[in-house]
Amino acid sequence: MIWNLGSINADNFYYLRHLPKPGETIAAEDFNQGLGGKGANMSVAAARAGTRVMHIGAVGLDGKWAVERLLEYGVETQHIHMINVPTGHANICVAEDGENNIVLFGGANHEVDDRIIGAALSEASPGDFLLMQNETMGQEFAARTAKTLGLRVAYAAAPFEVDVVADVMGDVDLLVLNEGEAADLVQALGQPLDQLPIDDIIVTLGENGCKWVSNKGKSEQSFAAYPVKPVDTTGAGDTFTGYFVAALDRKLAMTDAITLAMQAAALMVTRQGTADVIPDLKEIQDHDF
Ligand code: ADP
Repeated sequence: MIWNLGSINADNFYYLRHLPKPGETIAAEDFNQGLGGKGANMSVAAARAGTRVMHIGAVGLDGKWAVERLLEYGVETQHIHMINVPTGHANICVAEDGENNIVLFGGANHEVDDRIIGAALSEASPGDFLLMQNETMGQEFAARTAKTLGLRVAYAAAPFEVDVVADVMGDVDLLVLNEGEAADLVQALGQPLDQLPIDDIIVTLGENGCKWVSNKGKSEQSFAAYPVKPVDTTGAGDTFTGYFVAALDRKLAMTDAITLAMQAAALMVTRQGTADVIPDLKEIQDHDF
C-alpha cells in the first residue's frame, strides 16, 4: 500500500484569444476545471496502476469535488482534511497560439501538518511505501516517521527545493527527479548522484527515457522512451512516478516497474489534461508498445 503525502489542486483552465496584457480585462472563450497537483496526479496514477493508495493532504471547504473525484478514481481519502483555507489551485491561461501563463496558490496544501501526517502513518504497516513531493509541508517529519515504522520512502523532489532534499535525504530509499532537477541537485550539493546516501535514483529524461542509478548495486542503466507523438507533456513525470512506485508496491522487479512507468507516461503525453486522463492498466495492456 502507498501512503501519498501530496498536494491537491484545482486546475482552472481559461482559454483566451491572447494572454492579457497588464491592466487588460478579457473574457475567456471557454473554461474547464480539472483535478491536478503533483500529489493528486501521483495518487491517481498509483490507483490506476492497480495498487492501494491512501492520500494524505488537505483541501478547503470549496474542495469537496476534488476529494469525491479522487475517491471515484479509486484513491482512499480518509486522511484528506477539509479546512477553512482555499483549496490549492492553478489558474492557467491558455492563448490560441498555445502560449500560457500560470498563477499557483498553495492554499490548503500548505496546512498539512505533522499531526495530520502522524495520525495517518500510525495506520501504515511495515513494508508499505510513503510517497511524497514538494507541494506540501512536513516531508522531513513524514520521512523520519515512515522509516521508524519500517516503511519504504519514495520521493519526487519536484518542484525542486534543495533544502527539502537535504533534510529528507537520509531517510529516502528511492528518489525520482527529472533532468533539470537532477542537474540542480548535483550543483547544489556538489556531489554526483552516485555518491548520495539513497539506494535508488531515477532520472527521467523526457523523450529520451530515463536512467536508473543504483547506489546499492553500484550500477547505472539507461532506458529508451516509447516513441509517441506528444500532444501535452503535463503530468508525464507524475504519471511515471505514481506508476513506478505502485509497480514496486505490487512487487514487480525494478526494470519491469520502469518499463510499465514509461509506457504509462508515454500514453499520458498523447493526451491533453492532468489527473483526469491518466491511463489505466488495461489501456496500457491494449496499446501496442
Ligand atoms: P517531467 O514531466 O517531470 O519533466 P519527463 O519530461 O522527464 O518528466 O517525463 C517523464 C517520463 O515520461 C519520461 O521518463 C518518459 O518515459 C515519458 N515521456 C516524457 N516525454 C515523452 C515523449 N515525448 N515521448 C515518450 N515518452 C515521454
